[in-house]
Amino acid sequence: MPDGGAGTDPAALLALTAEIVACRRCPRLVAWRELVAREKVARFRDEEYWGRPLPGFGDADGRILIIGLAPAAHGGNRTGRVFTGDASGDFLWPALYRAGLADRPVSRRADDGLALTDVYIAAAVRCAPPANKPTILERDTCAPFLVREMALLASVRVVLALGAFGWDAALRAMAGAGQVAGPGGKPRFGHGAEARVGPYVLVGSYHPSQQNTFTGRLTATMFDAVIARAVELARTKAAARRPE
Ligand code: SF4
Repeated sequence: MPDGGAGTDPAALLALTAEIVACRRCPRLVAWRELVAREKVARFRDEEYWGRPLPGFGDADGRILIIGLAPAAHGGNRTGRVFTGDASGDFLWPALYRAGLADRPVSRRADDGLALTDVYIAAAVRCAPPANKPTILERDTCAPFLVREMALLASVRVVLALGAFGWDAALRAMAGAGQVAGPGGKPRFGHGAEARVGPYVLVGSYHPSQQNTFTGRLTATMFDAVIARAVELARTKAAARRPE
């Protein structure tokens, strides 16, 4: 545990994980995730798809929480682990490895033994949505899982939000826990943006989606820099400790 605090309750996190995985609250997303899992795509036709919601993954005592949007239909919805087996993950894992937060630069399967250090990853919406676009109702229906997950991740000081959707989801989750930014209104998302919200520092990054990485909007250098900043904040006194 990084800061000598109370630490994360593994049993409580496990119970929340089980609850997330069993969730069927959004009829459209349940139908979509299961349809994709049945029909598959040609390149993965021999694989058994997960086809269920995705819980968070990583170091439960980590000081950094990464928040993405939602699982990819043939990525996390296939493998059962966030950012595993899709193009966004192919950009994320090498960056985490270069930063010393992952023990390998590649992750394509949930059973590959990947271990993360000081970082935990969660999605704002746990089921793969059609066209990667959850509705507002689906977003809001899933949001309490992130509030509860963040409450359990006792060591988190820095929240790295991937994309504006992740940024807004992080702010909503913090607000749900009674933590709001100081005067000046809602902090604006941007690549490298930072906002102090209660005991957290929120850091923004462009999402490592193909749309951003293939066009050069997000380069490996840019991503490395924002992850390095998150690590720096987590490891210095710049980020306040969580209240006991
Ligand atoms: S998106 Fe969230 S709330 Fe909706 S079915 Fe999936 S896990 Fe449940």
